[in-house]
Formats: sequence, structure tokens, C-alpha cells
Amino acid sequence: MRFRLKVKDDLRAEPWIESTIYEHEDSTARAWAEDLVKQYNDGIPRFGGVPRTLVEILPEPEGTSSPTKKPHEWEKTNAVTLQKGNRFYDTHTCKNCGITAKSFGLSTSKKRDAPWRSVKYEFCK
Ligand SMILES: [Zn+2]
Repeated sequence: MRFRLKVKDDLRAEPWIESTIYEHEDSTARAWAEDLVKQYNDGIPRFGGVPRTLVEILPEPEGTSSPTKKPHEWEKTNAVTLQKGNRFYDTHTCKNCGITAKSFGLSTSKKRDAPWRSVKYEFCK
């Protein structure tokens, strides 16, 4: 299904609908969306922001033409957490497009490796 997220935070009086359209299997879309919001919240200590809560997922009507943005599907590629200096990290590869990324410490957010830093690689093909 294609859908958008309706979310809320403590700053705004009303929930709002995000403009990004996501695509995911029907049966797990809700859990996946919750995980996406969790990843956003987990990134706040590093990137700033206000914690959000997922209100609901809103299916997009069939035939809408706006382009779908699919996130990468990361798979951890190291069995044991790696260390560089005093930083611990894991390496990940996207199952779909093969780009690689790292996550540092306990953070679940992924930092794309050098060849894929630019925003055009933010979402999967
Ligand atoms: Zn990908």
C-alpha cells in the first residue's frame, strides 16, 4: 500500500499529515511506520527536533501521481559491533539497491557512506 503518516507532537495543537508518500506491504505498514517515527525520535539528541507520535497511516488513493519514496531496507552486515578509535559502529547494506551505511553507538539512524551522501540517495530506487 501507499500511504502518508499522520503525526503529532507537543508543540502543535493539531496532528498533521506529512507530505512524503511511503510504500510498504499492507500487513506490516503500521508497524513499519511506527518504527520510522521511532527512528526519527531516536535521532533527536543528535539532529534536534521534537518527539513525534504516530496517529495513523492514511492510504493514498489509487492512481495518485506523486512519486513514491521508498526508504532503504538496511541489513546489518557485521556480526560483531566494530570499533574505530573510541567509536563503536555497525555497517549496513540496503537489500534493494546495495548502498552502504553505518550506524554509530546505540543510534538506529544510518549515515550513508561517502559515495551515497548526497540527498538523491536519501530514498531507495
Ligand atoms: Zn536502497
